[in-house]
Amino acid sequence: MSTAGTDPTEAGWRAALDGFVPVPAAHARPELDATAARHLLRCPPRVWALLTDGGLPARPAPDGERYDSRDLFNLAVHSGSRTSVPEVALSLALRFARQDPGHWARERDWDLRTTLTCLRHRGEGHWRAWPPGSYDTPAPDPAPRHWSGPGAVHTLHHHVRTRGVHARLESPRLREGIADALARPLRYVRMPAAVRADADWMAERGLVDCVSGTLALARRLAAAGHEVRGRTGWLVGPQVTAHTWLDVRDDDGRWKSVDVAHHHLARTLFGPDAVAPEAFAGSRPDRLVPGTAPVGEEPFTHRCLAAPADSPTNLDCQISAASR
Ligand SMILES: [Zn+2]
Repeated sequence: MSTAGTDPTEAGWRAALDGFVPVPAAHARPELDATAARHLLRCPPRVWALLTDGGLPARPAPDGERYDSRDLFNLAVHSGSRTSVPEVALSLALRFARQDPGHWARERDWDLRTTLTCLRHRGEGHWRAWPPGSYDTPAPDPAPRHWSGPGAVHTLHHHVRTRGVHARLESPRLREGIADALARPLRYVRMPAAVRADADWMAERGLVDCVSGTLALARRLAAAGHEVRGRTGWLVGPQVTAHTWLDVRDDDGRWKSVDVAHHHLARTLFGPDAVAPEAFAGSRPDRLVPGTAPVGEEPFTHRCLAAPADSPTNLDCQISAASR
């Protein structure tokens, strides 16, 4: 019979609580009730009690407590439970990194279907969308598409071709600088846009996400004289998620991709030695769809023209990708 403290499931969740940094209160979005939260974590009652007693923030609502999905995500990813919804989804999305490059260094055609829904639409709305782009010829002066209209739901269709590349970094100086940066033991998290854009705030707390990791590495490599460009786009997995990574010019003249966030995330999910070093430093999988938004910009935004300026955006964005 297991007892508290020796149960491996419980030990994993306790470890997730160590070093857990809640979403700062000013940016919190407590929307999930306890039932939805526990469904996301798929944890037994004793673990739920451990988390709520141990630092998972709860905000009171008339009919019970509410939880921020980012806090739940950030605990689940580091729990080692392997059964929480975030762990299962991300393990599927990143499983290519454990496969032979022949499976992901290919050319692929995708049909992306994006459905934007304003959940509390009031009157006319203004919409902005940064469309997918291209790897080799990023638009010199990319511009988002703007439109207005009364509808609460808009669907966008894009056809994109991606080209996976299996490559290593050639420049010894570049390789060393990047290996050094990636060796830092950072904890992959999801944070609100305003928080993750502050790379120093994130790094001081031992945290990394795709935006903070890209900004910090870009700064470091640029200071060392390397040519860099931050890239935004989407990772096509079972779910399609917005993502940010860095391209850097190598000694062979080619742009190589460095994916700081997925480097750390893959090691958390699969173990430190399960992924080839070049998978996220030099290579680029065919599931990475480049976009045109600048680093830190949301690819899709919406504002109800009739709503007060300080009202929440309530924009729901669902993207599906079909391989042609
Ligand atoms: Zn609206």
